[in-house]
Amino acid sequence: MQNRLLNERTMTQSAKPVLRFAPSPTGMLHIGGARTALFNWLYARHTGGTFLLRIEDTDKERSTPEAVAAILNGMRWMGLDWDGREVFQAARAGRHQEVAQALLAAGRAYRCYATAEELTAMREEQKKAGQQMRYDGRWRDRDPREAPDGAPFVVRLRADTEGETIVHDQVLGDVRFANAQMDDMVLLRSDGSPTYMLAVVVDDFDMGITHVIRGADHLNNAGRQLQIINAMGWPVPVYGHLPLINGPDGAKLSKRHGALAVEAYRDMGYLPETMRNYLLRLGWSHGDDEIIPTAQAIEWFNLESIGKSAARMDFKKLDNLNGHYIRITADETLVAEAVAFLERENPPRILSDKARARLLAAMPGVKERAKTLLELIQGAEFLYTDGVRVLDEAAAKLLGPEARALLAAALPALEATDWCGPALEAAARAHAEAGGLKLGQVAQPLRAALTGKASSPPLFEMMASLGREESLIRLRAYTA
Ligand code: GLU
Repeated sequence: MQNRLLNERTMTQSAKPVLRFAPSPTGMLHIGGARTALFNWLYARHTGGTFLLRIEDTDKERSTPEAVAAILNGMRWMGLDWDGREVFQAARAGRHQEVAQALLAAGRAYRCYATAEELTAMREEQKKAGQQMRYDGRWRDRDPREAPDGAPFVVRLRADTEGETIVHDQVLGDVRFANAQMDDMVLLRSDGSPTYMLAVVVDDFDMGITHVIRGADHLNNAGRQLQIINAMGWPVPVYGHLPLINGPDGAKLSKRHGALAVEAYRDMGYLPETMRNYLLRLGWSHGDDEIIPTAQAIEWFNLESIGKSAARMDFKKLDNLNGHYIRITADETLVAEAVAFLERENPPRILSDKARARLLAAMPGVKERAKTLLELIQGAEFLYTDGVRVLDEAAAKLLGPEARALLAAALPALEATDWCGPALEAAARAHAEAGGLKLGQVAQPLRAALTGKASSPPLFEMMASLGREESLIRLRAYTA
């Protein structure tokens, strides 16, 4: 059988692993899928192999172009680049049919003319008898000429009925399926359309896939798919089925507990690098290491260290990791991320050059405190918006009549400086000392008037970033 999708690249790299991520475009890219994609991508990048993307759009009713776009965007945002063009499974139906025909010709598949009513009756009887409900092979050895002329049929695999099908799983070990328990699965439906089982096997073969890494919810499918692979005499890929991701309470991951699209994580202010690190640790470990930047992950990643038990979502860990990556990200990059974030708002918020410059100048202080980009953006709003601040409750308390008088008295000393952080701080300190006050007694009303809040990144740095003119507008509003 010709290996049709093997392009020059995979041929010249035939000794290297070829991996794939094969999402069904029936919804967004969720974190479970993103982790599967990440593990495949990491293994491909680690080995110098190839990472392919196949969109499994055979379920016409549930697949949408919006979901395809969401998956591609999610992958791009996560930084998981795939090699070559994405493959669309539905477009390959002809090829899937061709393989079913080859199996028919080789006697490894047969036509089954059982009607829907017949099969329902069969199942009813099995149910009554307390037996497992499965196709009983009634057309397996029957002469197709016995079928009424022009009667519709499905094509079924003539599966082995004895012995075992063993999935040698890299993660879970050997998983055995008794062949007697598996019935003759449908390969082509009565309208000629290929089933999902057949499509996956044919596409994996044609794409030269050497490793199938996917969620453990596909483990049973592996047993089925192996039967088709064996019937075709094709090479068996290495399988690795990833344990599920559970919620923080150990129960199935719910929406409330993080079963969200990667875009939701983006909108909550997590960085792609954080997501890669965090999802890597959901099911893979390297000693006690928690902080594993992507470059390091590519160097270390292996299949042996994938965990066997379900991983647990832990938002606190995610936040801490994100805080770490925010702190080590270059100021310019964070400004660009913040700008992009605000532009995604509805309506989009566009920052002026002046606002960007202020944010950039203040970023070293701002990024120290933020656990998410959202927190960073909210905490820095006083930098990229102009004008007198509306005080929150805590800030209002700090700006009572006495504090306003203090502020008014301190202003001339501040105005006399060259408006850089250290000079502003020195002036405020000298002014406080001269009046027998603590620095905080001057600094707190200053902070409240400048930011509208009772806490902020380091005050005098922020004042410097804000600039003389804008700072004085805000301070003067609260000295009257
Ligand atoms: N299309 C399947 C899914 O989205 C994955 C199939 C596979 O990886 O073999 O769950």
